[in-house]
Amino acid sequence: MTRVDAPRHLVTRFAPSPTGRLHIGHGWSALQAHDLARESGGTFLLRIEDTDVTRCRPEFTRAILEDLRWLGIGWDGLMIQSTRFPAYEAALEALKGQGVAYPCFCTRGDIARELAASLHAPHGADGPLYPGTCRGLDPATRAERIARGDPHSWRLDMGAALARTGPLSWHDAQAGDVPVDPGALGDLILKGRDRPASYHLAVVVDDAAQGVTDAVRGRDVFASTHAHRTLQALLGLPVPLYRHHALVVDAEGKRLAKRSDGLALADLRAAGVDGLMLADDLRAGRFPVGIFLR
Ligand code: GLU
Repeated sequence: MTRVDAPRHLVTRFAPSPTGRLHIGHGWSALQAHDLARESGGTFLLRIEDTDVTRCRPEFTRAILEDLRWLGIGWDGLMIQSTRFPAYEAALEALKGQGVAYPCFCTRGDIARELAASLHAPHGADGPLYPGTCRGLDPATRAERIARGDPHSWRLDMGAALARTGPLSWHDAQAGDVPVDPGALGDLILKGRDRPASYHLAVVVDDAAQGVTDAVRGRDVFASTHAHRTLQALLGLPVPLYRHHALVVDAEGKRLAKRSDGLALADLRAAGVDGLMLADDLRAGRFPVGIFLR
């Protein structure tokens, strides 16, 4: 008798940040995640990534829900990250307990000065890496400055993290197996001065909490996956299959910005465009004039 493996139950998600209005690039991304789940009877989840409390606005969250419904996208569950700060705090505590997180007292200005003064500042995917100024502070100084109320963020000590986990890799549906590159993001922020959890920490905790099996998202965050995989290993969380997709760009090859007037889903809706027809056009790769997938 041949053994037939049960098909995998796919769980995908769309995870926008409500810092602006969604444009057709977001619509296309949401459709990718939605359709992948729907085609196989899987689960499609929505997650509002509003941990950046200074930039996120409730009206943008409301608009996201309207935009998606208009495109005919329904979701099987909704998670709002701003309700989950205790979960991120618990993850940060676990990392502190492993000795792989450290407080960083540097301001942006401090970091810029440090980088300007160094002869060869290593660069990662998003620009120069944090030069590690606070990594070597002794425990007494750290404790004293925290007790004094000095503003600080918390960073991952990437070197210490990988020394603990050993070499890691992750899988992308297109790129295949990708070994973790510690230099992609360096000592990334886990918790900001004014931000209760960074995107990196929250995304990892919540992909696990929502049981996401397939992380469908843009290539713009490809490099972040090195950090995400490292955090998953440290926190003992499952690793989704990553499906980084092409980006919707303008004629100059630039990604559409959240303020893209005329291409914002809300503008198209207001102009009387039929959302279901637009969704089918995007599915078929029919983009408005001057817009491409790259
Ligand atoms: N909130 C992130 C963004 O809008 C989500 C990226 C991801 O799907 O992990 O880019």
